[in-house]
Amino acid sequence: MNNLENLYRQVIMDHYKNPRRKGLKGYPQIQLKNPSCGDDIIIEAKIVAGMVEEINHEGSGCSICCSSASVLSETLSGKSVEKDLDLIDKFYRMIKGEEVEDLEDLEEALVYQGVSQFPARIKCATLPWKALERLLEGESDE
Ligand code: ZN
Repeated sequence: MNNLENLYRQVIMDHYKNPRRKGLKGYPQIQLKNPSCGDDIIIEAKIVAGMVEEINHEGSGCSICCSSASVLSETLSGKSVEKDLDLIDKFYRMIKGEEVEDLEDLEEALVYQGVSQFPARIKCATLPWKALERLLEGESDE
């Protein structure tokens, strides 16, 4: 394992053990499950006038999925809906191992770069992002 991979791993484990923005406040939410791994995640978002003011999460699952919900909630809160949709698209392309320009826009979510080498974990990393994407497109569970 090189130093960068080691750093990424540390960031992922930190978010898994000390999740940021965990706990729902009653905003529109989407729940998604990944039966092959047992991941079960709820993402909620407060969206006002084209701005994603706040993202929170709840749920359980593997370290990749739970940490990804934490990183997503922290990184994508406080940005515009348009910007977040762009970042979600970048995240999907990075995870698929595609070349992505301005990758640093993803901030801490860059730590999931290496997941592209583990196809079975791609669903784990993207599950929270898929839930937020649906919220940004106007869907919600209730
Ligand atoms: Zn998982």
